[in-house]
Amino acid sequence: MQTIHDYNFSGKKALIRVDFNVPLNENFEITDDTRIRAALPTIKKVLEGGGSPVIMSHFGRPKSGPEDKFSMRHLIDHLSKLLGVEVKLAPDCIGDEVKKIASELKPGEVLMLENLRFHEGETKGNEEFAKQLAENGDCWINDAFGTAHRAHASTAVIAQFFPNDKMFGYLIESEVKSLDKVVKDPKRPLTAIMGGAKVSSKITIIENLLGKVDNLILGGGMTYTFVKANGGEVGDSICEPDFLETARNIEKLAKEKGVNLIMATDVLAADDFSENANTQTVQASQIPEGWQGLDAGPESIAKFKEVIKNSATILWNGPVGVFEMDKFAAGSKAIGDAIVEATQKGAFSLVGGGDSVACVNKFKLADGMSYISTAGGALLEYLEGRTLPGVAAVRGE
Ligand code: AMP
Repeated sequence: MQTIHDYNFSGKKALIRVDFNVPLNENFEITDDTRIRAALPTIKKVLEGGGSPVIMSHFGRPKSGPEDKFSMRHLIDHLSKLLGVEVKLAPDCIGDEVKKIASELKPGEVLMLENLRFHEGETKGNEEFAKQLAENGDCWINDAFGTAHRAHASTAVIAQFFPNDKMFGYLIESEVKSLDKVVKDPKRPLTAIMGGAKVSSKITIIENLLGKVDNLILGGGMTYTFVKANGGEVGDSICEPDFLETARNIEKLAKEKGVNLIMATDVLAADDFSENANTQTVQASQIPEGWQGLDAGPESIAKFKEVIKNSATILWNGPVGVFEMDKFAAGSKAIGDAIVEATQKGAFSLVGGGDSVACVNKFKLADGMSYISTAGGALLEYLEGRTLPGVAAVRGE
């Protein structure tokens, strides 16, 4: 397989699929440029190798055809500043005029194609559209992990036009490598911590992980569906009565697979979903009427920490309490601290999924984790055990 590390970019036009779907304010100023910065190493590698990057991305959700508010022109100045090179903007992403501009690029020059989603062929995965995109480059680099779970023209279908000149960019390569350290060949024991609000949104991931992990810590709001499934009292806690059978099946499957399933035995209950609520620590299975469990209790936290500290690989997806309110953040913070400690001792830790990343950032623990994934949907689909079209296309699978 071709890699960005050894590919010769000299004199080549390199089509790079990035994810520049950044948020803008009402004055069309970028409010968070993380995604643009994340693609810089790949773009710079092409420049340093004597090639010409031809950058393509989707941006926003244009309905049908071009819309000025979704034009890539809003991103050009910022990208030029970050790269220290003046980036040219193409009038479209396909067509003769664009092809001519791309073909006349000199080494060191950078071209940004106009928004891919101005053409419906992009999301439809249209082959003819992909072929026209492909005419703008000599090789194709996929560096958009955030859209790798979509079989779109620029993320997957285009690969067939570059049988010997396709590769991952640095960002997607490190995402895949890091995820594989958890999913494919983890050092053991492997512990996954799944939190968040509901069981229903995590079932497929939990089921897939049960075939891989040694320990599974289930926390957060889903605790109460399990408590209820076992005949406990959940008071006013969040609970999904339609998923009691699912919860029982998960417990059964864990037993069959020999997975050590760990859930809260005590919880911090509150008489209101608010920072000003009164709180008390109670048994997870005996939450009084009018009270709701909003964080793990001290006994549970100690148990979680013990398991995490003895793990060699750790995956964290979802907070184990309502961490947004300081009163109910202790459990999630303790998990984060324990992961940092384990990582310092040599464990590999991966945090992913919007809320866990927000949680890690809130407690300023990001530097202590081995890898933080910024991909939402693609990460979750990978953990569910699905093949990602954008990854498979590069690998030729
Ligand atoms: P998710 O998007 O499914 O990962 O859910 C994350 C959200 O779950 C966060 O906003 C937490 O505040 C929330 N959460 C965690 N524990 C609980 C709980 N015990 N009750 C209600 N919400 C919770």
